[in-house]
Amino acid sequence: MLKSFPLKKRKKQNMEVKESLSKILPVRVNTAYSTRLLSINKVLKAEAKEVLYKAGLDLANTEFEGLKAEGISNALSLVADEYFRKGLGRLIMDGVNEKFLLVRNYECATCAAADNDGKTHCWLDAGFIAGALKQMLNEDYVVIETKCCGTGSEYCEFMIAKRHRKAPK
Ligand SMILES: [Zn+2]
Repeated sequence: MLKSFPLKKRKKQNMEVKESLSKILPVRVNTAYSTRLLSINKVLKAEAKEVLYKAGLDLANTEFEGLKAEGISNALSLVADEYFRKGLGRLIMDGVNEKFLLVRNYECATCAAADNDGKTHCWLDAGFIAGALKQMLNEDYVVIETKCCGTGSEYCEFMIAKRHRKAPK
Protein backbone atom coordinates (compact mmCIF):
# COMPACT_ATOMS: atom_id res chain seq x y z
CA MET A 1 0.00 0.00 0.00
CA LEU A 2 1.23 3.45 -0.83
CA LYS A 3 1.62 5.91 1.98
CA SER A 4 0.34 9.39 1.24
CA PHE A 5 3.10 11.72 0.14
CA PRO A 6 3.94 14.08 3.03
CA LEU A 7 4.23 17.22 0.89
CA LYS A 8 0.95 16.69 -0.90
CA LYS A 9 -0.97 19.12 1.28
CA ARG A 10 1.48 21.93 0.74
CA LYS A 11 0.03 24.12 -1.93
CA LYS A 12 2.22 27.13 -1.36
CA GLN A 13 4.39 27.60 -4.41
CA ASN A 14 7.43 29.49 -3.35
CA MET A 15 11.13 29.07 -3.78
CA GLU A 16 11.77 27.50 -0.35
CA VAL A 17 9.18 24.84 -0.99
CA LYS A 18 10.76 24.02 -4.29
CA GLU A 19 14.14 23.72 -2.69
CA SER A 20 12.91 21.22 -0.12
CA LEU A 21 10.90 19.34 -2.74
CA SER A 22 13.91 18.95 -4.94
CA LYS A 23 15.91 17.21 -2.23
CA ILE A 24 13.28 14.49 -2.27
CA LEU A 25 12.59 14.46 -5.97
CA PRO A 26 15.79 14.98 -7.94
CA VAL A 27 15.08 16.23 -11.43
CA ARG A 28 16.43 14.22 -14.33
CA VAL A 29 17.90 16.69 -16.72
CA ASN A 30 17.52 16.05 -20.42
CA THR A 31 20.85 17.02 -21.95
CA ALA A 32 19.65 17.20 -25.58
CA TYR A 33 18.61 20.85 -25.22
CA SER A 34 21.95 21.71 -23.64
CA THR A 35 23.93 19.94 -26.36
CA ARG A 36 22.09 21.96 -29.01
CA LEU A 37 22.54 25.27 -27.24
CA LEU A 38 26.23 24.61 -26.66
CA SER A 39 26.60 23.89 -30.36
CA ILE A 40 25.08 27.29 -31.22
CA ASN A 41 27.40 28.77 -28.64
CA LYS A 42 30.45 27.24 -30.26
CA VAL A 43 29.56 28.48 -33.73
CA LEU A 44 28.87 32.02 -32.53
CA LYS A 45 32.25 32.18 -30.75
CA ALA A 46 32.95 35.71 -29.50
CA GLU A 47 29.45 36.89 -30.40
CA ALA A 48 27.75 34.12 -28.40
CA LYS A 49 27.44 36.03 -25.16
CA GLU A 50 25.73 39.06 -26.64
CA VAL A 51 23.53 37.19 -29.12
CA LEU A 52 22.27 34.66 -26.57
CA TYR A 53 21.71 37.32 -23.91
CA LYS A 54 19.61 39.30 -26.39
CA ALA A 55 17.72 36.17 -27.42
CA GLY A 56 16.86 35.48 -23.77
CA LEU A 57 15.86 39.10 -23.24
CA ASP A 58 13.63 39.04 -26.28
CA LEU A 59 11.97 35.77 -25.30
CA ALA A 60 11.21 37.00 -21.78
CA ASN A 61 9.87 40.30 -23.12
CA THR A 62 7.26 38.28 -25.00
CA GLU A 63 6.54 35.67 -22.33
CA PHE A 64 6.22 38.11 -19.43
CA GLU A 65 4.54 40.93 -21.31
CA GLY A 66 1.76 42.53 -19.29
CA LEU A 67 2.67 40.64 -16.11
CA LYS A 68 3.31 42.76 -13.02
CA ALA A 69 5.03 41.76 -9.79
CA GLU A 70 5.19 43.20 -6.29
CA GLY A 71 8.91 43.68 -5.87
CA ILE A 72 11.90 41.67 -6.96
CA SER A 73 11.34 38.57 -4.76
CA ASN A 74 7.87 38.17 -6.16
CA ALA A 75 9.14 38.66 -9.72
CA LEU A 76 11.91 36.10 -9.22
CA SER A 77 9.52 33.55 -7.78
CA LEU A 78 7.42 33.91 -10.95
CA VAL A 79 10.55 33.30 -13.02
CA ALA A 80 11.33 30.30 -10.77
CA ASP A 81 7.83 28.92 -11.41
CA GLU A 82 8.41 29.21 -15.13
CA TYR A 83 11.77 27.42 -14.86
CA PHE A 84 10.33 24.67 -12.71
CA ARG A 85 7.31 24.12 -14.96
CA LYS A 86 9.36 23.94 -18.12
CA GLY A 87 12.11 21.77 -16.66
CA LEU A 88 14.74 24.49 -17.15
CA GLY A 89 16.08 24.24 -13.61
CA ARG A 90 15.30 25.03 -10.00
CA LEU A 91 15.87 28.70 -9.36
CA ILE A 92 16.35 29.79 -5.76
CA MET A 93 17.31 33.04 -4.08
CA ASP A 94 20.72 32.87 -2.54
CA GLY A 95 21.66 36.22 -1.07
CA VAL A 96 20.97 39.89 -1.22
CA ASN A 97 22.65 43.15 -0.25
CA GLU A 98 21.91 46.73 -1.18
CA LYS A 99 23.85 46.52 -4.46
CA PHE A 100 22.90 43.16 -5.95
CA LEU A 101 21.26 39.85 -5.33
CA LEU A 102 22.25 36.32 -6.15
CA VAL A 103 20.13 33.49 -7.46
CA ARG A 104 21.13 29.89 -8.05
CA ASN A 105 19.85 27.56 -10.71
CA TYR A 106 20.17 23.87 -9.92
CA GLU A 107 19.89 21.27 -12.69
CA CYS A 108 20.22 23.98 -15.30
CA ALA A 109 19.00 22.70 -18.65
CA THR A 110 21.31 25.06 -20.56
CA CYS A 111 24.68 23.86 -19.31
CA ALA A 112 23.79 20.27 -18.35
CA ALA A 113 26.03 18.92 -21.11
CA ALA A 114 28.84 21.46 -20.69
CA ASP A 115 32.41 20.41 -20.02
CA ASN A 116 34.29 22.02 -17.19
CA ASP A 117 36.18 24.43 -19.45
CA GLY A 118 36.32 27.37 -17.06
CA LYS A 119 33.59 29.24 -18.95
CA THR A 120 30.05 30.30 -18.14
CA HIS A 121 27.48 29.22 -20.72
CA CYS A 122 24.06 30.40 -19.61
CA TRP A 123 23.82 33.83 -21.23
CA LEU A 124 20.42 32.96 -22.62
CA ASP A 125 19.22 32.48 -19.04
CA ALA A 126 20.90 35.68 -17.84
CA GLY A 127 19.13 37.65 -20.59
CA PHE A 128 15.86 35.87 -19.88
CA ILE A 129 15.94 36.80 -16.20
CA ALA A 130 16.79 40.42 -17.07
CA GLY A 131 13.93 40.58 -19.58
CA ALA A 132 11.42 39.04 -17.17
CA LEU A 133 12.36 41.51 -14.42
CA LYS A 134 12.14 44.41 -16.84
CA GLN A 135 8.63 43.40 -17.86
CA MET A 136 7.33 42.75 -14.36
CA LEU A 137 9.02 45.61 -12.49
CA ASN A 138 9.46 48.14 -15.26
CA GLU A 139 13.12 48.63 -14.36
CA ASP A 140 16.34 47.71 -16.12
CA TYR A 141 18.48 45.00 -14.60
CA VAL A 142 21.85 43.56 -15.53
CA VAL A 143 22.24 39.83 -14.97
CA ILE A 144 25.63 38.16 -15.04
CA GLU A 145 26.33 34.47 -14.64
CA THR A 146 29.11 34.06 -12.09
CA LYS A 147 29.14 30.27 -11.58
CA CYS A 148 28.20 27.53 -14.01
CA CYS A 149 28.64 23.79 -14.69
CA GLY A 150 31.25 25.07 -17.14
CA THR A 151 33.24 26.53 -14.24
CA GLY A 152 32.95 23.32 -12.23
CA SER A 153 30.06 24.47 -10.04
CA GLU A 154 27.14 22.15 -9.24
CA TYR A 155 24.73 25.04 -9.84
CA CYS A 156 24.63 28.20 -11.92
CA GLU A 157 24.80 31.47 -10.02
CA PHE A 158 23.50 34.75 -11.38
CA MET A 159 24.28 38.17 -10.01
CA ILE A 160 21.41 40.60 -10.52
CA ALA A 161 21.88 44.34 -10.23
CA LYS A 162 19.75 47.30 -11.11
CA ARG A 163 21.08 49.17 -14.11
CA HIS A 164 21.72 52.75 -13.11
CA ARG A 165 21.54 55.53 -15.59
CA LYS A 166 24.73 57.52 -15.87
CA ALA A 167 24.71 60.46 -13.53
CA PRO A 168 24.94 63.83 -15.30
CA LYS A 169 28.36 65.48 -14.99
ZN1 LIG B 1 25.31 27.70 -16.34
